[in-house]
Amino acid sequence: MPMFVDTSPPGHCIFCKIVAGDIPAAKVYEDDLTVAFMDIGQVNPGHVLVASKRHAVTVINLTPEEAAAVMQTAQRVAAAAQRAFDPDGITLFQANGEAGGQTVFHFHMHVLPRHENDGVALAWPRKEPAVHLLQGYAQQLQQALQEQTAAPTV
Ligand code: AMP
Ligand code: ZN
Repeated sequence: MPMFVDTSPPGHCIFCKIVAGDIPAAKVYEDDLTVAFMDIGQVNPGHVLVASKRHAVTVINLTPEEAAAVMQTAQRVAAAAQRAFDPDGITLFQANGEAGGQTVFHFHMHVLPRHENDGVALAWPRKEPAVHLLQGYAQQLQQALQEQTAAPTV
């Protein structure tokens, strides 16, 4: 059941080109599995994207090692942003699929320094369903966890 269609083949997407150095980016940090660079949109100063070096579309397509490396890089960059920009807060944001808000279909996590009243807002309509519905959702996920293999679905 493919959830996310890869419209940009490996090596041809914009972030693959940044990884390869074929197009310019203001790089902040890189290691074997990840690269961090300034988001051209700069929602706030210090807004960084942490991308997998390998072309993977979503979080589901990362290997466990890549997923761990991405969070380690995001933590390092967040700590650096705290030191460099002294924000009031930091939001980590990561979108998967068009419906999830993803616009570049190569895995990346936003590290976004935040300030009081900076105008950043995520519409988050709470539903607060009955407890038996929560338990049902949990059971669906537990069953899915048992069924899935450890291998990523690249
Ligand atoms: P998302 O909507 O989560 O997929 O985020 C994609 C982000 O990539 C946006 O915030 C863009 O501003 C950013 N972006 C797109 N092209 C580039 C680029 N060439 N260099 C740096 N950031 C980019
Ligand atoms: Zn790519």
